Amino acid sequence: MSSPLAPATATQLIHHPYRPPAGFEAPQIAVHKASTVLFANVAAMRERDWRNKSGYTYGLHGTPTTFALEERLASLEGGRHCLLVPSGLAAIASVALALLKPGDGVLLPDNVYGPNRDLAFGELARFGVRPVLYDPLDISDLAAKLSPDVRLVWLEAPGSVTMEFPDLTAQVRLCRECGALALLDNTWGAGLAFAPFDLLGDGRLGVDVSVHALTKYPNGGGDVLMGSVVTRDEALHQQLKLTHMRLGLGVGANDAEAVLRGLPSMALRYRAHDHAARRLAAWLCTQPQVAQVLHPALPDSPGHAHWQALCGTADGGQGAAAGLFSVVFDARYTQRQVDAFCDALSLFRLGYSWGGPMSLVVPYTLSAMRSRPTPHLKPGCLVRFSIGLERVEDLQADLARALAAALQA
Ligand SMILES: *Cc1c(COP(=O)(O)O)cnc(C)c1O
Repeated sequence: MSSPLAPATATQLIHHPYRPPAGFEAPQIAVHKASTVLFANVAAMRERDWRNKSGYTYGLHGTPTTFALEERLASLEGGRHCLLVPSGLAAIASVALALLKPGDGVLLPDNVYGPNRDLAFGELARFGVRPVLYDPLDISDLAAKLSPDVRLVWLEAPGSVTMEFPDLTAQVRLCRECGALALLDNTWGAGLAFAPFDLLGDGRLGVDVSVHALTKYPNGGGDVLMGSVVTRDEALHQQLKLTHMRLGLGVGANDAEAVLRGLPSMALRYRAHDHAARRLAAWLCTQPQVAQVLHPALPDSPGHAHWQALCGTADGGQGAAAGLFSVVFDARYTQRQVDAFCDALSLFRLGYSWGGPMSLVVPYTLSAMRSRPTPHLKPGCLVRFSIGLERVEDLQADLARALAAALQA
């Protein structure tokens, strides 16, 4: 009789006769976890190539779980290929590392996601890349800065925190004419507000790469960090994939499964975040403490006409937007008072990121974030709101109470 620790038993625990149940066709995708993937023989090992996804070679090169997620994300955004990375910021960084070389220029909008700017002016500049900021609301400024050495142009619609909506279609057209790659940070649009690879609706014009912080709406639970890099062009995808592999970027199977679980409800959630955010943004416009509400669906918000043109036909003509907006408080209130307003909120919690069920608030110091004057913004302290999935009446009551407590009209 063998003891539980006998070598034969230990071996049998690893070389068990398990096979996945045949005919088990549940719609949910299983969590496949592996570093090693086994081959039947040497010929099979030599034959399989991680680059074309015709089979599995190694956990880092993909599993049935991650392949399924990649396919769904590519179709969500209207692309053909997708790479998964451990965060939205890793998506941005891996694209930059794959496509830039010393001497290249990279253009970023002045309202770019902050860590993207820090990467460009930090590591990329140190490696001999030339980062330049452009005005997202002035197409002639982008045209003037598109010199022949510019390889990449980052685009955001709308920009981070101040929510200006650019003429994305004109920007992409300009990049195409100048031979620069158009890279969109599509976290806000999420593949739902507009089609990044088909901006005109006739298949003729689209971005080259869409990066997406899956951390936000695709996951939706506020409990996973992940990013994606979606492309249509095969050669561009292969270039990105090669660097992705060499950097050793991969995602955990449980995290991939969590995002797969979030995707089916994403359109419903996005719509709920959107509707609640628009109601609260419109209500805040009527409050005497508020100087300006920055939400691209509001007629007075910078770039509203561009939002209307790109996203306005979605949702039966109501248009589509994420659940984000910012508020500039009247200049008579000090930063201290506005901070006290944020502290006085109880349902809105202080925290970074967005896209989860809980409403969040962050006070930003704009002077440290913009390189050029912002005449389209009223002076005053700025607060960014991310609207969660709470009852909108409860959120409005929370805002009203904190306004009354901290910012006497
Ligand atoms: C959150 C965010 C990112 C980064 O995503 P992480 O997963 O947090 O790294 C990138 N771009 C935008 C616009 C974002 O809002």
